[in-house]
Amino acid sequence: MKKIAFFCIPAHGHTNPMIPVAAELVRRGNKVRFYSFDEFREKIAASGAEFVSCSSLMPTISEEEEQGLKKVSITEMSMQDIRLTECFTDFLTAEFESFKPDVVYSDSACFWGKLNAWKFDVPLVVSTSTFAFNQMSSQYMKHSPAEITDMMFGLPKISRRLKDLIPLGYKYKSVMSLVASDNGTDSVVYTSKGFQPYSGAFSNHYLFMGPSLMTDKLPDKKKSRPLVYISMGTVINDRPDFYKSCIVALKDLNADVIISCGKTFDIGSLSALPDNIKIHPYVDQLDVLSRTDVFITHCGMNSVSESLYMAAPMVLYPQTGEQQAVARRAAEIGAGEFLKDDSSAGIKAAVSRVLGSDAYAKAAKKCSDEFRACCGTAGAAEFIENAPHKSDAPDPLKALNRECGKYQLIYWLIAAVLFVLVWKLTGLKYVWTVGVPFGVCNGTFSKLVTNHVYKKKYGSLSGLP
Ligand code: UDP
Repeated sequence: MKKIAFFCIPAHGHTNPMIPVAAELVRRGNKVRFYSFDEFREKIAASGAEFVSCSSLMPTISEEEEQGLKKVSITEMSMQDIRLTECFTDFLTAEFESFKPDVVYSDSACFWGKLNAWKFDVPLVVSTSTFAFNQMSSQYMKHSPAEITDMMFGLPKISRRLKDLIPLGYKYKSVMSLVASDNGTDSVVYTSKGFQPYSGAFSNHYLFMGPSLMTDKLPDKKKSRPLVYISMGTVINDRPDFYKSCIVALKDLNADVIISCGKTFDIGSLSALPDNIKIHPYVDQLDVLSRTDVFITHCGMNSVSESLYMAAPMVLYPQTGEQQAVARRAAEIGAGEFLKDDSSAGIKAAVSRVLGSDAYAKAAKKCSDEFRACCGTAGAAEFIENAPHKSDAPDPLKALNRECGKYQLIYWLIAAVLFVLVWKLTGLKYVWTVGVPFGVCNGTFSKLVTNHVYKKKYGSLSGLP
């Protein structure tokens, strides 16, 4: 029997997949203490884990900070994470000293879980509720200019603010070690090796357990007419304009429509709804998806995994870089298509295309079968119980990085030769004619090389998709 401490940020998408893992660990006789927040009390307690609330320790946050969090600003989220780590310090120190966990299972975005595991030298396993991201798989993300600016200016700010944690006894290798996992960190990922982009570039420290869901439901699509389900998730779901466009688009379709609109949308503000459309603040999504024929989704990792698990093809409407990566992979396996035009006409056309072709449903069913064949919660529980893991296997990413480094070296050698030539032929005054173009092109060149070389070398290393 092990004592395992679970930590997660207050977010449904991050908390939900940890719960079935907690339930399985409890079933196997372990003692699980889950540090979370009041709104998750019931579902965590139902897993058999001991729920410990951190809600009363939460500081009040300003309107500006709340706006940043709503926009899913990485900087704002990290600053909040640091602030919460400070606020929870005394409480968690007492908890670690009395509970004495054998393993910490912490969400990847939960700084106080990771930092306390390192502080008290307890083996850490990271719960990754998105895809696992490294240099290769992050190529799937397409960040908006706002996200790129946020990250560029945010990282030094986070780095400075993190130093405030050192006097409290916290230690970390670097900002990156805190915000991202590497091939040496034991990590559980809630997808299959087949759906994870470039899964062969991850070491044996990664367990791809498949979607972590509390259900034994099977897809059941038999009914008199198709069902379309629409949800923008639980975080950025205040989209009255989009729900209204969906209603206009689908009111005359020979299909039933269910919209989950979140808790901020005023359903009463809608004039009479067409008979075929129902709208709710929250639904039992797995139940709805088991019957769904097309899911219009914001492409949160959980929603897409649940959709594929229930063999429901999708219309993909991502809002963030991370969701973009999930959407791209879903489109790549043929289980959905992007919503390029979010007007009523565009929505109607996309839904009709997905409903009108068997190919999307077949691809979703194939992925569903693959998900259901993964090791699941039993595999994850065993992985957590046996942490820390040792791996003697060579790190696949190191080989890829070496290969990429060779091309970078050639690039800079050419730059150096041209530099010397210009210098000798025309004098030092003109070397900027080489330096400036090479400097400007370096970003694009690196990206091209990374994409090309990683992909080429990756194929020869792993033979995986
Ligand atoms: N969810 C639900 N009912 C709803 C809307 C969402 O049960 O009406 C659940 C959904 O099943 C999923 C989670 O909330 O597990 C949303 O997570 P996701 O990663 O898809 O998106 P996020 O909310 O984090 O943006």
